[in-house]
Amino acid sequence: MKCKDCGAEIQFITHVSTYKKIPCETELKHGNSEITLVTIDGYLITKAGPNTRGYEPHWGNCSGAEKFRREKK
Ligand SMILES: [Zn+2]
Repeated sequence: MKCKDCGAEIQFITHVSTYKKIPCETELKHGNSEITLVTIDGYLITKAGPNTRGYEPHWGNCSGAEKFRREKK
């Protein structure tokens, strides 16, 4: 699906404990101990290491990120 703010191709992954849908990039990445990744099973990992595979949250790359922040409760 496409982000309605910037038009990029994204996907939603449901967080394992909050059940919130997290907008993520579609490209599967390995961590570099700096980036945040959302794993396929819905864990949000900050400073994900190289052994972690997941998707980068879209809010870091989205030109409409301000809107995400406003909607956050
Ligand atoms: Zn976007």
